Amino acid sequence: MNKYIKKVLNRLKEKNINESEYLQAVEEVLTSIEPVINNHPEYEKIALLERMIEPERIITFRVPYVNDKGQTIVHRGYRVQFSSLIGPYKGGLRFHQSVNQSIIKFLGFEQIFKNALTGLPIGGAKGGSDFDPKGKSDDEIMRFCQSFMTELQRHIGADVDVPAGDIGVGEREIGYLFGQYKRIKDRYEGGVLTGKGLSYGGSLVRKEATGFGLIYFMREMLANNNQTLEGKTVTISGAGNVAIYACQKALEYGANVVAMSDSTGCIYDKNGIDLQLVKQIKEVERGRISEYIESHTEAEYFEHTGEDSPIWNIKTDIALPCATQNEITLNSAKKLVENGVIAIGEGANMPCIKEATEYFLKNNILVAPAKAANAGGVAISAVEMSQNSMRYYMTFEEVDQKLNEIMTDIFKTCKTTSDKYNLGNNYVSAANIAAFTKLANAMVAQGIV
Ligand code: NDP
Repeated sequence: MNKYIKKVLNRLKEKNINESEYLQAVEEVLTSIEPVINNHPEYEKIALLERMIEPERIITFRVPYVNDKGQTIVHRGYRVQFSSLIGPYKGGLRFHQSVNQSIIKFLGFEQIFKNALTGLPIGGAKGGSDFDPKGKSDDEIMRFCQSFMTELQRHIGADVDVPAGDIGVGEREIGYLFGQYKRIKDRYEGGVLTGKGLSYGGSLVRKEATGFGLIYFMREMLANNNQTLEGKTVTISGAGNVAIYACQKALEYGANVVAMSDSTGCIYDKNGIDLQLVKQIKEVERGRISEYIESHTEAEYFEHTGEDSPIWNIKTDIALPCATQNEITLNSAKKLVENGVIAIGEGANMPCIKEATEYFLKNNILVAPAKAANAGGVAISAVEMSQNSMRYYMTFEEVDQKLNEIMTDIFKTCKTTSDKYNLGNNYVSAANIAAFTKLANAMVAQGIV
């Protein structure tokens, strides 16, 4: 390994010993950009890597709220403003009981690279809280969001830092957060949050963008290998925002989606998933995916008990992990390869453990890496910001066309980079190198800051 990279990684491990997800994310990037670092020994003198992996700012804060029983509950809020190198800080908010500093730092770090790949002027950030919205009433969600924003508002702004949704934060939560921001600031500042409702400044296609974008990227990657989605069997983990709209677009392209999941288990419907029913259960009733088999008795339900998710035992051509980080273990990767998978499309951030990704690549499985393949959501968030600035709204077709172009361009960037560095079908390294090169050039140009 390049000596400079090794030194930076060793120091990073010493300083962040308890932050496994953050270490995993940084290690993946630094080990894959070695050819670039070898060509630029001057980066060591200006501590370019050290500066790129250190967040510009980490904010943590107390978030108290009163639940429906009248009890006061205290959560911890986070905002990691990782990099403003190429634009205002930009990245989602995650509300999930597992949220901690390591997870927000890994997500913020990945976001810098993803945002660079979109070609749009947005920096990288992430935030959230260890609050679990599942099972909470609307009133509780509103009170929590208001408390969260009462503190966060002093750190964000349309030209400063623009949060959006992620796990547990959808249109409902963005609405409550936006309402509180507007109330405190006493002005309409549409571009301060993205993923807003259409009635008060949101963009058409933002809701669909990550899922649709994932399938556009997959289409390009398959086409480059003389394949299409038509007639392919697809399994999709998760049944949230990314999973649902990936499913919708995959169905439009003629794929047969046979399985989806949530954190408690997965459904397998060999006749093809009834997406309207999944939307009703997850988007409207906020229920469990297991309810699917109540009206589709021919479908099967497998509970998620051990470490490996049961969905990856199902035979498929294309697997789309769209739930959470590290959901594909090495065991699951082996099972997928044994069952003949040809492509993996990462809708979730860092859904494969490092060894799983390596196993796929070693077995010539196509991997669409998260930083590239799920960039459609943030790209359309940037398009939402543009529309807010222009005070003008684009049609569904216009935004979808833009998304399609952006995802096609991201694939082209990965392909050109892979050709330049002789990486074959390793788009994981190609995406990292392409994004890093852009960021490193900006960093050199802006001096030691
Ligand atoms: P949602 O909250 O809408 O949905 C998340 C889904 O994943 C739910 O079905 C949830 O199940 C499941 N899930 C969450 N945590 C776990 C877990 N620990 N184990 C198993 N299943 C789990 O989130 P999104 O769809 O927005 O996000 C999904 C992934 O996509 C995340 O990795 C996110 O970072 C990434 N992403 C999202 C973008 C966006 O625009 N929304 C943009 C780019 C990436 P349950 O209902 O049981 O909790």
